[in-house]
Amino acid sequence: MRTQVGIIGAGPAGLFLAHILHRAGIESVILEDRSRAYVEDRVRAGVLEAGTVDVMEQLGLDGRLKRESIADMALDIRFSSQRIHLDFPALGGGRHVTIYGQQEVVKDLIAARLKDNGKIVFEAEALAIDTKNPSIRYRHEGKEETLECDFVAGCDGFHGISRPTIPKNVLTEYDRIYSFAWLGVLSHSAPLPEMTYSNNERGFALCSRRSMKVSRHYLQVPVDEDPDDWSDARFWDELHLRLDDGSKHEIVEGEIFQKNVAPLRAFVAAPMQHGRLFLAGDASHIVPPTGAKGLNLAVADVRVLSRAMIEFYRTGDTKRLERYSDVCLRRVWKTVRFSAYMTSLLHRFPEHSPFDRKIQLAELEYLHNSKAAQTTIVENYIGLPFEDD
Ligand SMILES: Cc1cc2nc3c(=O)[nH]c(=O)nc-3n(C[C@H](O)[C@H](O)[C@H](O)COP(=O)(O)OP(=O)(O)OC[C@H]3O[C@@H](n4cnc5c(N)ncnc54)[C@H](O)[C@@H]3O)c2cc1C
Repeated sequence: MRTQVGIIGAGPAGLFLAHILHRAGIESVILEDRSRAYVEDRVRAGVLEAGTVDVMEQLGLDGRLKRESIADMALDIRFSSQRIHLDFPALGGGRHVTIYGQQEVVKDLIAARLKDNGKIVFEAEALAIDTKNPSIRYRHEGKEETLECDFVAGCDGFHGISRPTIPKNVLTEYDRIYSFAWLGVLSHSAPLPEMTYSNNERGFALCSRRSMKVSRHYLQVPVDEDPDDWSDARFWDELHLRLDDGSKHEIVEGEIFQKNVAPLRAFVAAPMQHGRLFLAGDASHIVPPTGAKGLNLAVADVRVLSRAMIEFYRTGDTKRLERYSDVCLRRVWKTVRFSAYMTSLLHRFPEHSPFDRKIQLAELEYLHNSKAAQTTIVENYIGLPFEDD
């Protein structure tokens, strides 16, 4: 099989890239290890930056999003019995974030791709990449095949084969592993009116939503926590306490239908390109979920990559392709900074001294009273403008 751009992975990075290229008349094939049902049901992120929604609109992929998403207009932070209200439109130039599950984005992008007669080979595991004479060896239906292409887009997530294909002496890896994790649940219950983060003496908590009937809640837990040790009653009791809702009047309890523990980590691998291989999304970087950035960063990467490829196919000019890694990493590091800042502001760190805790509380007090500090958080949360590449 031969195509112009061979894409590994049908997550947000691979799917958005395929759609943007298709609109510019550039052909691609997506190889995806898992089945269509598996990738469409994978529950992950749910907060879309204004820029991500703009990209979906420009691609004409926002039909269901327009009907079913929810606009989140504010973010609340609770600490020491105080509440900070961050109004997105007021502090963010009229913009806000949109709540629409990653699995819904993926479903919409797969459906549109197949309608366009674009190729996605499900249950096709990429095995090896040739970065000089670009091609991908993969296994499908028990047979090994080769996809030849002009470029390989490594959109295969954190555990894929693309990043390890780049020689160790070329790649620098920056890594921070946090000493705690998030226990996340989905429940059939009405959410709080605002997305609400809490820095509580008992640990971090977050109440967010996926719809007006489905809540997405998180609790900070030790990294080795077993979700089975958390009965529904234990989860709700702890969430009420961490949100200062001891009387249980505020948070609505409901049937919990998904529960998992996710570690927190920040990781960046640079450069994001080697020969004709270009990394995008989680294949190159992951951020702790406190800033709600993973999916949005994947979209920002492929926006830059697609522009570079379009320029190459139109003019033969490779300058944008050569700049790809540098342009993306500018946004990546700003996003890692913000995600690390939100993580450090809102969690209880086992390693913190009483001095560190006082500094953290002073930071929250400052945020409570400073419009400048609030504007900084809102500007980053709704998404920095796309880089001029
Ligand atoms: C459990 C979990 C929870 C998360 N929660 C949040 C959240 O609440 N908020 C937030 O902002 N972000 C969250 N994230 C991060 C966000 O979901 C990711 O940043 C986003 O999925 C990145 O998209 P991607 O396309 O780069 O990678 P992925 O979505 O990981 O897609 C990569 C694809 O490549 C495929 N693949 C891998 N290896 C191969 C191979 N060898 N051959 C073929 N295909 C392959 C995979 O099956 C997958 O479909 C979460 C991530 C995880 C893992």
